[in-house]
Amino acid sequence: MALLDDLQLKTILASAQEAIAKANSLAELTHCRVTYFGKKGHVTLLLKQLGSLSPDERKVAGKQINDLKQELEQLLEDKKNTLEISLGDTELKKTYLDITLPGRQSSVGSLHPITHTKHKIINIFEKLGFVISEGPEIENEFYNFEALNIGPNHPARAMQDTFYFANQLLLRTHTSPVQIRYMQENPPPIKMLAPGRVYRCDFDVTHTPMFHQVEGLLVDKNCTFGDLKYILNLFLSHFFEKDIPTRFRASYFPFTEPSAEVDIQCVQCQGAGCRICKQTGWLEVMGCGMVHPKVLENGGINPEAYTGYAFGMGVERFAMLDYSVDDIRLFYENDVRLLKQFSGV
Ligand SMILES: [Zn+2]
Repeated sequence: MALLDDLQLKTILASAQEAIAKANSLAELTHCRVTYFGKKGHVTLLLKQLGSLSPDERKVAGKQINDLKQELEQLLEDKKNTLEISLGDTELKKTYLDITLPGRQSSVGSLHPITHTKHKIINIFEKLGFVISEGPEIENEFYNFEALNIGPNHPARAMQDTFYFANQLLLRTHTSPVQIRYMQENPPPIKMLAPGRVYRCDFDVTHTPMFHQVEGLLVDKNCTFGDLKYILNLFLSHFFEKDIPTRFRASYFPFTEPSAEVDIQCVQCQGAGCRICKQTGWLEVMGCGMVHPKVLENGGINPEAYTGYAFGMGVERFAMLDYSVDDIRLFYENDVRLLKQFSGV
């Protein structure tokens, strides 16, 4: 064999450069390596021919082949690194996690303003020693009316006020039936608070067909109207978090005698007169009175030995005043934009 000619070496080098450059995967690169360095690879075959050369020729040709071999190995190694880096990038992109992105916020719920107001009222009376009691929302006529001294012809029994069922049952129109149920089961002294839902056929800016009341009842020996005034003044100043002027106006309820409606000085205008208080400077917030002797009797309590007072208030009324909301229906539209405003209370 003659000396290797430069053209043959250059042809091998050029074809190898092209094949390596075209390789797009490690498998293709391995195929290149086999093409040149495998058992029948171009470079391997050249090395096999060295044995047939004279020592001087072998020296020269050996160096030429060795240079070619080193150059090709370097090309293969560089390409391998390039491919590994690019494959690594692809893998990384598949599983990429940008830890600098802000987290997804989850909404946190909050108590409805009516529930919050109910809890606020209950908390104050619980501190004053009242125990919580609840009765059924579906009542019968006896507990809702008769036992509370509301005779058969009383206007409160009219169909336009009360939701009746077919069989003498009805949706309670107030929480007062709980007074009778509690007295029947608990001997005096009694100090009870009954929060709950009540129902009436009514719907406008200050009335909804379902609303919440809190009823209070205290029965003991020598209980007086003065005690009633004291406890309600105490409650109102705690609820509104200031000494708030009140007045007790004589009124009429079938189940109390004497009866009164309680006004507070307008929380909006401090008595000067505004739209909320219809320019009177006062806001009616609750009804109260000394328990009627007949009601005590219906509860199984001797009115000769015991006296008692009772009071009732609308939770929505207190919520409207506390939050300066002037349309009761807003509380029941479940508009998140409104409810969110009370999420921090
Ligand atoms: Zn006012």
